[in-house]
Amino acid sequence: MNCYVHSERPAAGTCVGCGKFICEECRIEINSKNYCKSCVNELVNESKKKIEKLEETSKQQPMVFMNAGGGASSSSSSSSSSSSGAGMGYGRPVVPLKNKVTAGILAILLGGIGAHKFYLGKTGQGILYLIFCWTFIPAIIGFIEGIIYLTSSDETFAAKYGAKYL
Ligand SMILES: [Zn+2]
Ligand SMILES: [Zn+2]
Repeated sequence: MNCYVHSERPAAGTCVGCGKFICEECRIEINSKNYCKSCVNELVNESKKKIEKLEETSKQQPMVFMNAGGGASSSSSSSSSSSSGAGMGYGRPVVPLKNKVTAGILAILLGGIGAHKFYLGKTGQGILYLIFCWTFIPAIIGFIEGIIYLTSSDETFAAKYGAKYL
């Protein structure tokens, strides 16, 4: 009986892992059991993998906590965004406080004197329009705003100029 690695050397024992004969040099005694080097390597690799798995799970656990924290923060941010977007309502029909068509026509026809601004409750801006009406700039801005009012959707108009829920 010779070592399966060193065929010229007599075996000192058999490996409990693979059952092959091993010489004194190849023999590695672990817990008073003989192992060959390849089996020890396998054991080491297995234990390494186990350790790596343990490390991964230990790494994953704080990751889970991180995710939980992130989820909490994201949910809080989403809830805050939903509360800020409450003006848009959640499936609830939204009606603009002001009629965007009226506002648009006022802006186009009487935009120079800020009629649409007064209509929309923005008195300060309306007065500005009134003061600068002689420059015709308010008329031009009012005309553009009128087009924007008429082309904007009810939702965006409601978001800008107030809305009520049905
Ligand atoms: Zn072996
Ligand atoms: Zn050997």
